[in-house]
Amino acid sequence: MFFWDYTFVLLIPPLLLALYAQAKVQSTFNRFSRRLSRRGLTGAEVAARILGASGAGRVAIEKIPGRLTDHYDPRKKILRLSEPVYESSSIAALGVAAHEAGHALQDHFHYAPLHLRNAIYPIANLGSTLAFPLFFIGLILSQGRPHFLMDLGILLFAGAVAFTVITLPVEFNASRRALAILREGNYLTSEELEGARQVLSAAALTYVAATAMAVMQLLRLFLIRQSRD
Ligand SMILES: [Zn+2]
Repeated sequence: MFFWDYTFVLLIPPLLLALYAQAKVQSTFNRFSRRLSRRGLTGAEVAARILGASGAGRVAIEKIPGRLTDHYDPRKKILRLSEPVYESSSIAALGVAAHEAGHALQDHFHYAPLHLRNAIYPIANLGSTLAFPLFFIGLILSQGRPHFLMDLGILLFAGAVAFTVITLPVEFNASRRALAILREGNYLTSEELEGARQVLSAAALTYVAATAMAVMQLLRLFLIRQSRD
């Protein structure tokens, strides 16, 4: 009943968007992984130069296994690049490396949305873990009336939604910085830059899909609660 009530249909559009974004990011990344940049610097070299040029040189760069596992760790000040990005001089590798370096620059220059995101991460994490169990228990105990555990579940999940929303400007800004740096530093030609832009746009779409899914989940919990009123 809980998973198959009519509000389930709300999740279909964001689910389709997520599947599309996932496929898009894979295909775009694959395509531009095969195209090597003319200048021939690797992802790791470009990231190191970007960090060095900005004064954020104390950030360490590590190679990690996996594919598209690249991320910046603001707590430990480590930029982790996946093997295909670290070692490659492809257009895709440079786009991803510069994007992750963009996060390190956000941290270094105290970009407010990044700090806000990091601050709400523990709450959001707790929220996404506990919200559904609490809501579900509340639903069982509700006896036709909204139970306070349902409200608590909704409140906690709202924290998780806020996290996905604040992630959007952080991601868009990192990509904007990346493309500007790749252009100004002549790491990519203007034609190559278009490929990097496509890779980063596809990656951004996955975050938009995640936010849409979270918002719809929240709406769904809210509608189920209202149906008990
Ligand atoms: Zn990012």
